[in-house]
Amino acid sequence: MKVKDLLAKAPGEEVLAKGWVRTKRGNKEIAFIALNDGSTINNIQIVVDKTSTDAELLAKVTTGACIAVRGNLVESIGSGQAVEIQAKEIEILGECDPVRYPLQKKDTTFEYLRTVAHMRPRTNTFGAVLRLRSQMAFAIHEYFHSKGFVYLHTPLITAADAEGAGNMFQVTTLDLLNIPKDKKGGIDYSKDFFGKRTSLTVSGQLEGELGATALGEIYTFGPTFRAENSNTPRHLAEFWMIEPEMAFYDIKNNMALAEDFIKSLVRYALENCYDDLKFLNDRYDNELIERLKGVVNTEFKILTYTEGIEILEKAVADGHKFEYPVSWGVDLQSEHERYLVEQHFGRPVILTDYPKDIKAFYMKQNEDGKTVRAMDVLFPKIGEIIGGSEREADYGKLDARIDELGMSRRTLEWYLDTRRFGSCPHSGFGLGFERLLLFITGMQNIRDVIPFPRTPKNAEF
Ligand code: ATP
Ligand code: MN
Repeated sequence: MKVKDLLAKAPGEEVLAKGWVRTKRGNKEIAFIALNDGSTINNIQIVVDKTSTDAELLAKVTTGACIAVRGNLVESIGSGQAVEIQAKEIEILGECDPVRYPLQKKDTTFEYLRTVAHMRPRTNTFGAVLRLRSQMAFAIHEYFHSKGFVYLHTPLITAADAEGAGNMFQVTTLDLLNIPKDKKGGIDYSKDFFGKRTSLTVSGQLEGELGATALGEIYTFGPTFRAENSNTPRHLAEFWMIEPEMAFYDIKNNMALAEDFIKSLVRYALENCYDDLKFLNDRYDNELIERLKGVVNTEFKILTYTEGIEILEKAVADGHKFEYPVSWGVDLQSEHERYLVEQHFGRPVILTDYPKDIKAFYMKQNEDGKTVRAMDVLFPKIGEIIGGSEREADYGKLDARIDELGMSRRTLEWYLDTRRFGSCPHSGFGLGFERLLLFITGMQNIRDVIPFPRTPKNAEF
């Protein structure tokens, strides 16, 4: 039986538990083993009568060892747990050399644990984070399915080189020591695996729009790759993104969906993952649960980019120091976003109508000729958690923008077909899954909310 189920079970029966030893302590007569199998943050206590147990076997019950225990589930007299197992029979499934075991008792830093990321799921903290990650993935699918959205699988390998969201990783099977050349001396991609230049996707959105303009409401949920050399606590080279795309939604409908979506996910975590949240709250961040409840219960503040800039400029005039300068037209840095959320409004913010020059070509152009119908959702501790927009549905305007930006139309013809044939108003957004998890777990570094982080110069395990 899983430890989680054992802990909820009424005492009185013989049970079999399997898991990894967290600690062993005791005295001359009795040993107490804390056993965990990953099903819950909580351990089950195993009580061992030393006088009737082989000492050599018990010596092998060390932190990290894997054991199976058969015994009676009894009411626990110690505090902290309702039931415990009175061991009758212990089997060592896998020994664990206590000297070489990479997870030692002394408080290990997150930096160190990243160097042993293959073992860190065995710690309480990463167990909690990874269970939350799994639960949130489930909650996301449940949310969209309950609303009738179609889960669309967009490709990870793409030939569109103009998505504009970030630098791409090239995908090739060419021999790098012997690259075929074309007549002009450039690389002859016709010899490459796909017969053209291809990359890993930076977003499933453009393909998502193909889905939305046929199926109505779709979402994607999959890996995304960005070769950006930004070593920040909020960027990964490989991360997961959720991208809903909806026909007949304008920017207002889009914002309403984003707010409802994220609140539902936070509520789901509070209702279904409380043990893990409580652990993270008590161990690292005493305001975590309050912050989560706060988001569920407050209305997000909606304002325009231009209004946001005015607030930030006023803050600077009043003596607030930012590392990066602010003025109309700049791309906001996380420090600016967090100022608006944490200092100024004290709640999540949705910024709309950004300058068109700092946003992607597909966003719907406003009448002022300067701004587009973008919407970024900004969160405490994180900054941007969602980026989205109403899409430009007008073929002529989109076409002109592509020209203006000097983008290659050749790789976008298929995309333009959505506007050529039965174009419709539509909107969508992208939620970075790990950014959501940073918020929900209260972890400080995005490398600690994904099992195997990929960042510049780091692709271990
Ligand atoms: P940022 O300005 O924070 O770098 P972005 O504007 O490049 O993000 P978008 O292209 O709008 O991001 O992507 C949508 C969402 O994907 C973002 O709101 C964020 O949650 C997430 N995201 C973007 N880049 C990364 C990354 N490198 N690692 C993790 N999540 C990311
Ligand atoms: Mn963005």
